[in-house]
Amino acid sequence: MQQPTGAGFQPVSPISLVDHPGTQANSARTSASSVVFCDFDGPIVDVSERYYRTYQTGLRAVQTKGSGPPLRVQALPKEQFWRMKRSRVEDGEIAVRSGLPESIVETFLQQVTRMVNHAHLLQWDRPQPTARASLALLKRHQVRLVLVTLRHPRQVEDFLSAHGLAAYVSEVYGVSDIMAAHANRVAQKVDLLKHAISQQSEFSTAAAWMIGDTEADIIAGQQAGLSTAALTCGTRSRSHLQTLHPTALHETLLAAVQAIIHQAQVKAA
Ligand SMILES: [Mg+2]
Repeated sequence: MQQPTGAGFQPVSPISLVDHPGTQANSARTSASSVVFCDFDGPIVDVSERYYRTYQTGLRAVQTKGSGPPLRVQALPKEQFWRMKRSRVEDGEIAVRSGLPESIVETFLQQVTRMVNHAHLLQWDRPQPTARASLALLKRHQVRLVLVTLRHPRQVEDFLSAHGLAAYVSEVYGVSDIMAAHANRVAQKVDLLKHAISQQSEFSTAAAWMIGDTEADIIAGQQAGLSTAALTCGTRSRSHLQTLHPTALHETLLAAVQAIIHQAQVKAA
């Protein structure tokens, strides 16, 4: 087994949800078909409400801390907040624009990092509007769907099960320390994707795609030699994604899946 080398990478056993390699009944059905690697947050999950509430809660928390006079902090409207996030405005800069003094920004950032993966905020995650149709379409065309995410696989499985989506996903590759994931997301994603590819020995990844919504996904796909599909429905703007030169740029996961399947059908014809 090829060991990942990137700093901070903490491999954790992948979770197999359906057609695990070696399950005879399923491997025969899928061995000739293709594999799609896909990020979780962004393509499948709409995380905007969680991120916004984390930001609001973080502001409230630092506002009530300390013994000085109350801070005049005003959370920005969600639309403005999300537009800034997608344009890669730093969290600290967003906090300053919300009225937070520079001297308290670091405390705010620590607060946000601690909170963002807590259960009471994770409950605000929702499936993207096209998630179910996209996953069902892949399944119908016998495409193996492997999720590659900087979340813990159990957290991903819980979400998929809660929303009746687990049957569409073959495997989930994640990390054990979700806090470490904040350090260098690109290097971690590169290592995790390479690791996931190395484990697909019973399946052909020659024509595989990597679908994602951030630079980490696109760079990881490119470094692994895969075709890459960048989605604009997630946490990065179209103009930012364009600078990464993905193979394809789509608004939603469904549009990407339809294009990938269409392309495979044209090639096979
Ligand atoms: Mg993402």
